Amino acid sequence: MQWEQILAPRMARMKASEIRELLKLLDQPDIISFAGGIPDPRMFPVAAFQEAMARVLQPGSADAALQYSVSEGSAQLRRWLAEHMAGIGIPCEADNILITSGSQQALDYLGKLMIGTGDTVLVNWPTYMGALGAFNAYEPKYDRLDPGSNRSAEDFAAVAAANGGKVKFAYLSVDFANPTGETIDRAGRERVLQLAEELDIAIVEDAAYQALRYDGEPVEPILAMEIARKGSIEDCRTIYSGSFSKTLAPGLRIGWVCAARPVINKLVLMKQAADLHSPTLNQMAVADVAARVFDDHVAGLREAYRGRRDRMLAALEREMPEGVRWTKPEGGMFVWITLPKGMDGAELLAQAIKTERVAFVPGRAFYADGSGENTIRLSFSLNDGPAVDEGIARLARVIKAAA
Ligand code: PMP
Repeated sequence: MQWEQILAPRMARMKASEIRELLKLLDQPDIISFAGGIPDPRMFPVAAFQEAMARVLQPGSADAALQYSVSEGSAQLRRWLAEHMAGIGIPCEADNILITSGSQQALDYLGKLMIGTGDTVLVNWPTYMGALGAFNAYEPKYDRLDPGSNRSAEDFAAVAAANGGKVKFAYLSVDFANPTGETIDRAGRERVLQLAEELDIAIVEDAAYQALRYDGEPVEPILAMEIARKGSIEDCRTIYSGSFSKTLAPGLRIGWVCAARPVINKLVLMKQAADLHSPTLNQMAVADVAARVFDDHVAGLREAYRGRRDRMLAALEREMPEGVRWTKPEGGMFVWITLPKGMDGAELLAQAIKTERVAFVPGRAFYADGSGENTIRLSFSLNDGPAVDEGIARLARVIKAAA
C-alpha cells in the first residue's frame, strides 16, 4: 500500500523528530538526562489521588464517574477553576472554562479554530515545540514575535498577506517558558496586547507553568491585564490555556481553556466532534484533589524545584567555559543555553551520549524556522543532589571538547 498517495497535504508538515528518536535511548541507567521536561513522579500527590479515586468510585458517584458527561467538563471542576482564575486576577464564570485533555489538546483545538491554510501565527523564536506540532496540522506560516521588537502591526500584516493569508493569533508561553525558562515582563505583555489590538487578532496565553514560581514577583497574566482594561472577560481577545500537568499529574490529561463565551462555545462544538469530553473519572478526581490539597501541594513543589534550579545554576556557574550563556529562570523547569556560534546542539547531543553519558534537548526543534543550532535546553525537574553537579560537569567537558 502506497500510503503517501492517500495522505492529506497537512501530513507533509507532521514528521517524527530525530531528537525524539534519540531521546528514546535515554533510559539507560548510566545516562544523566536533563532532557525530559516532565514533573518528578516522586512528588505526585499519590495518597490524595488514591483517596479521591476511592471516593468518586463509591456508590452514589460511581455511576456519574464512569458515565459519558458533558463536553464543557465537570461543573464542579469548572467552578473550582473559575475561583482559581479569579485568584490570579482573572474574574470569570464557570461558563468561561472548558476542560480539555491536557493543554496540548487546547493548542490543537485553537489551531483548528483559527488557522486556515497559509494564515500566519506569531510565535517567539524559540517557542514550545509542542505548539508548533499542534498548529502545523493546520498548515500555518509563522512570523517571529520578539519580546523587545518594535515591528509595526502593518509590517506583520504585510508579511502575512504576502504569504497568502492573515495573521490570526499570537502564541506565547508566558511564564518560565518552555524552552527558555524566561518570563515575559509586564511591558512585554502590554506590547503584545497592543499589537494584537492593532492587528485585531487573538492571543493564546499558554500558562502551563504559571503556578511554579520560585522567586521574584508574579507578573499579571495577559488576560488579567486585558480584563482590567475592558471590564469583562467577554470583551477580551486573550485565550488562556492552563494545565494540571505540572502541578498535580500529567497522566490524568486534564487542562483547561479560559476565554470569552463565544470562544468556549466554539471549542465545545470541537470537543463534541473530537472526543465528546475529557475522562469523567479523571475530572472528578482532579476536582476532589485540587479542592483539598492544591495550594499546599504546589508550595511543596516550589520548594523542591527551587532547590534543583539553584543547584543547576550553581553548577553551570562553576563548570561552563567562557562563551557559553544561560538563562536564570524564576520558575518552571528549564534553563536555556546558548553555545558559542558554530557549535551544533544536535551534534553535541550525539557526542554527549557517546562519550560522557549526559543528555539534553538540542534547541533547533523549538524554532519555527529551524534555526537556533547553537542552543540547547536543560530541564532541572528530575535530577537532584550530586547527579546535577556530575551531569553539568560532563556537559561542560563535551562543550570544551567541541570548542
Ligand atoms: N504548553 C507548554 C508550554 C508545555 O511545556 C506543555 C507540556 N510540555 C504543554 C503546553 C502541554 O502540557 P499538557 O498537555 O500536559 O497540559
